[in-house]
Amino acid sequence: MDNFIVSARKYRPATFRQVVGQQAITSTLQNAIKNNHLAQAFLFTGPRGVGKTTCARILAKTINCTNLNADLEPCDQCESCRSFNTNSSFNIHELDAASNNSVDDIRNLVEQVRIPPQVGKYKVYIIDEVHMLSTSAFNAFLKTLEEPPAYAKFILATTEKHKIIPTILSRCQIFDFRRITVEDTANYLQYVADNEHITTDAEALHIIAQKSDGAMRDALSTFDQIVSYSGNNLTYKSVIENLNILDYEYFFRITDSILQRNITDLLLVFNEVIENGFDGQHFIMGLAEHLRSLLVMKNPETIQLMHASEQLKVRYKNQSSACHQDFLFKALDICNQYDLKYKASNNKRLHIEIALLALADINNQPAQVKASVAPLTSKPEPIKNDAGESKSTYQPVTKPVEKAPPPPVSKPETQTPSSPATPAAERTKPEAASPRKMPESETGNGKVMRNISIKKSMDLIKNGKENDDQKPVEVIDNPFTQQQLETAWNTFCRAYEEKSPSFANALAKYVPAIGDKHVITYKVDSLIISKDTLGISSLLEFLKKELHNNQITLTATVPDKTEPKKAYTDREKMERLIEKYPAVQKLKDQFNLEIGF
Ligand SMILES: [Zn+2]
Repeated sequence: MDNFIVSARKYRPATFRQVVGQQAITSTLQNAIKNNHLAQAFLFTGPRGVGKTTCARILAKTINCTNLNADLEPCDQCESCRSFNTNSSFNIHELDAASNNSVDDIRNLVEQVRIPPQVGKYKVYIIDEVHMLSTSAFNAFLKTLEEPPAYAKFILATTEKHKIIPTILSRCQIFDFRRITVEDTANYLQYVADNEHITTDAEALHIIAQKSDGAMRDALSTFDQIVSYSGNNLTYKSVIENLNILDYEYFFRITDSILQRNITDLLLVFNEVIENGFDGQHFIMGLAEHLRSLLVMKNPETIQLMHASEQLKVRYKNQSSACHQDFLFKALDICNQYDLKYKASNNKRLHIEIALLALADINNQPAQVKASVAPLTSKPEPIKNDAGESKSTYQPVTKPVEKAPPPPVSKPETQTPSSPATPAAERTKPEAASPRKMPESETGNGKVMRNISIKKSMDLIKNGKENDDQKPVEVIDNPFTQQQLETAWNTFCRAYEEKSPSFANALAKYVPAIGDKHVITYKVDSLIISKDTLGISSLLEFLKKELHNNQITLTATVPDKTEPKKAYTDREKMERLIEKYPAVQKLKDQFNLEIGF
């Protein structure tokens, strides 16, 4: 029995041209070699298994070849090339920083750097997983990296660029390796299969490529694994069995059944899935993926997002044309919702079955029948605003309904209560929007009509947003002074300190200002503060109430570094005091004073 060599090793590219999916990098490197513009240190970063170490080795081999051919590929004949091919070259040193990350390891390496190469021009040092080096090892390495001898080249490889200290980064030429595309991976697998005399189907290779997530090494190992399991005939069936993947056939059938509203079939197919050992979440996620593929196939521009064999694409295209885009949107939404709630459900099987029923129900619903906001039955009650005349009016619900169909219930997660923006759900459904205001005459006597309904309030709370078509908003727009604003602002900050000291302190640091058209501008050190929706909406509500003006909006800015801060905490006040009167510092030191907290 001859020795089995894993494909990832056997088919490791030996020249730049063989490297898959990194053309930008290989051609840059080749150009640098051609123009003799090679940097001394390189950083190869990117996900695992995409060819970083391979490229490093090819680079080492190429720059040491004494007889480069016209395409700048190594000759494979000269002494250097031969020693590289047999892994016996003295000009390449590989250090795996994951296991050799101490200062001593680096010192050993630095020692070696001093010795010039005996054969060939360059010594190449490859440090893999360089982010694993300890800080002291990094520092020990820094000097060598700063002034390396002309014959030394360093190639640092890492999957986590953000962990490399800036002093190292700034001394390296950085190459970002990309994930290898599904197409490229599948093609390469085909090449390997052909060489190994393994028959395959395109679908099988695509699935392996997809599962490898851009890493060729993973793809080749999976390939080996399945070949050893299923022999020299690699079929789609053997791949999905081996990788525990749900057959797309299920999803084609499920989608057909949904479209035909064939509930019996839906439940039966799902039963089959469960009996084959897949769990419900796996299934609903797979279904969502399938629906996404159908959606992607609808538009010629997005077809490129679809990774499948040409044959399978035709099937997707056919099913896609049977589905309306709206149907796909709704179906995806349902899948997503049930996926999110899956963990919380007690009867997981039933949970998915309900999802399937909901999916089957989509095509049964006319566009806008869902009316879950209860009809408002209480009598309209006239109210007046401050000015005694109506500024905004509201339609009493005793009127015939045709004018204002109940709006569709929107998704609970859309908006925070105080957000002034139009709810997104409504913008996308113009047909559901009810007339915003009624003519004044209809309310009579310039009086504003308001309806009060517990059910409605409950719905508002439940939906997490207010519907401005339903609620009359009285405009209160009293002018206020800077002084009033500051007082209100400080009161809020004090009051809010207990709830969120960091938020309150951040707001209190700077003085707010009155801008144009009810805008209050305030400064924060970081805009993250202004993303605190709860805090900001509490502040806004408070200001509206305190300043008797409900038109106020807030805008956050980040101040220049030079701008003076307002002393807020006791410590800051103390520091400010010392700045102004240095003697205070003396006093503090002499009596060993501390600020009381
Ligand atoms: Zn050579």
